Amino acid sequence: MRVLILGPQGSGKGTQAARIAEASGTPHVATGDILRAAVADGTALGREVAPILDRGDLVPDELMVGLIRERLAVEDSFVLDGFPRTLAQAEALDAMLDEIDKALDTVLLLEVSDEESTRRLLGRAAAEGRADDTPEAIANRLRLYHELTEPVVERYRQRGSLVEIDGERSMDEVFSAIANALERSQVTG
Ligand code: ADP
Repeated sequence: MRVLILGPQGSGKGTQAARIAEASGTPHVATGDILRAAVADGTALGREVAPILDRGDLVPDELMVGLIRERLAVEDSFVLDGFPRTLAQAEALDAMLDEIDKALDTVLLLEVSDEESTRRLLGRAAAEGRADDTPEAIANRLRLYHELTEPVVERYRQRGSLVEIDGERSMDEVFSAIANALERSQVTG
């Protein structure tokens, strides 16, 4: 199963991606987690991206594409969370999948309003203390989502491969909507 999960910050995409991965025994490839682990380990990559993450800016496309290319070389199936975030990344992903003759089964979009996103992220800031959950970094991340990631959403919508899920419900309700969508795509795909 090759699934892509898109949605703004605070849409619950990380949580849902982890649940889909666990339920289906598919690796969860979360770019934010990979980058934060590199920062925590103090690797060269981590030192390079730490200030970018703190500001809520995007890591350069080339670096992200290289990172995903390495993962796709070893994973046959995946729940991809946090990539692609720009049109250049989406084009690179298409090319990589073409090269290995594989396609995505499902592209999910978790929809939540900016108000709800901001409310959830500020709540998480209090609970988890993530460095990029400051009001400034949150506003920057949402701005970049609208500017650079929404065109990616549009690209998949135009292809007819987007499944839109209302993310403003409880975690369990969202998960069962996703499970239904995945089941349908297995049946039809
Ligand atoms: P969120 O969706 O809440 O911003 P993530 O954990 O997905 O959280 O990402 C955290 C940070 O990691 C982003 O703000 C960005 O700096 C960096 N990042 C993750 N994925 C990408 C990507 N595909 N392209 C560029 N930067 C990325």
